Amino acid sequence: MQVDYLIIGQGVSGTWLSYYLQKEKKSFLVIDNDFPNSPSRIAAGIINPVTGRRHVTVWMAENILPFASKAYTEIGNELSITAISQKNIVDFFPSPQMRLSFQQRVEEDPTYVQFCIEDTQYHDLFRYEFGCGTIQPVYTANLESLLPAWRQHLEKNNQLIKEEFDIAQLEITTEHIQYKHIRASRVIFCDGAAAHQHPYFTLLPFAPNKGEVLLAEIPDLPVTHIYKKGMLLAPLATPGLWWIGSSYAWQFDNEDPTIEFREKTEQLLQHWLKVPFRIISHLAGIRPATLERRPFVGFHPLQPRVGLLNGMGTKGCSLAPYFAKQLVDHMIRQQSLHPEADLNRFTKILSRQPG
Ligand SMILES: Cc1cc2nc3c(=O)[nH]c(=O)nc-3n(C[C@H](O)[C@H](O)[C@H](O)COP(=O)(O)OP(=O)(O)OC[C@H]3O[C@@H](n4cnc5c(N)ncnc54)[C@H](O)[C@@H]3O)c2cc1C
Repeated sequence: MQVDYLIIGQGVSGTWLSYYLQKEKKSFLVIDNDFPNSPSRIAAGIINPVTGRRHVTVWMAENILPFASKAYTEIGNELSITAISQKNIVDFFPSPQMRLSFQQRVEEDPTYVQFCIEDTQYHDLFRYEFGCGTIQPVYTANLESLLPAWRQHLEKNNQLIKEEFDIAQLEITTEHIQYKHIRASRVIFCDGAAAHQHPYFTLLPFAPNKGEVLLAEIPDLPVTHIYKKGMLLAPLATPGLWWIGSSYAWQFDNEDPTIEFREKTEQLLQHWLKVPFRIISHLAGIRPATLERRPFVGFHPLQPRVGLLNGMGTKGCSLAPYFAKQLVDHMIRQQSLHPEADLNRFTKILSRQPG
């Protein structure tokens, strides 16, 4: 079988890459093993314009956020699903210092942050002592619906192979790549943290990061917002189901959920929530994060048939549509990639042989 592109992985990166290739009427196949704990399958899908304790505006927010909002709306309409919704964050300050820090941010630049109209507005639902602010606009990409719907679409078009990709069987020649019975012009890895193990990309400064999350039933909480107090509490598509997370661990022995996270998060919920909740699940996944917190997009300098759309870190839901489109424009129209994302910034490193 001959196609233009072979894509490895159908997380949020592989989904967007195949979406834009389809728009260009290019032929492709996607190989995906449907790993249940891949970050794309356990993320809340939050697209937030600010980040961290200081509410710093995220990289390229003014381009990436409107792009993501439009892209998810468009794919949702095509698949007849709700792929995105706007749900602003109500941020309950955990300490007077955090309130002060928020105030400084509002004074510096109120584009995305404001104080709540009434500090007591949420007193029926939550315990909090230091008031609250709002972060907006915040979107939720509904990956719970989008990933299976796109998978079904690929399957219907015979563009999906549901199996484990085995890199040992990949052959690269100057004319094409060959994987089992598939011949393609290029292979593009959208396989998340797994790419760090490939002979081609092992030298890249990946910094895999483990994140844990709880799922809980909280039937009495209004689904109008995402709530934050240290952790985020985000409504999922299933009515009454909430996502609580997440942790960020740079050092870990395994990919399993930890008892420490569960105990700490349950305690937080007990102190914070005034309405009943019931934990129903505890998950962990490895984010494909990078040392310099920028994605890896483009082609290997010595293997121009081998590409990467990866390194999405903590922000795959906002970055993946934007950089998938850039990569497709780069391949088809020779447009440049953003220099901070372009893989060619690692030409020297990738030209070395892995030791
Ligand atoms: C707990 C947690 C919460 C998060 N919350 C958010 C959030 O709210 N907002 C946000 O923007 N980001 C969030 N993230 C980060 C986000 O999930 C990632 O940036 C994003 O999902 C990365 O997507 P990806 O498609 O590049 O990689 P992945 O999600 O890792 O997808 C890789 C795909 O490749 C497949 N695959 C891998 N190896 C193989 C193989 N050998 N053969 C076949 N298939 C293979 C996997 O099954 C998977 O489908 C969160 C991450 C975690 C862990």
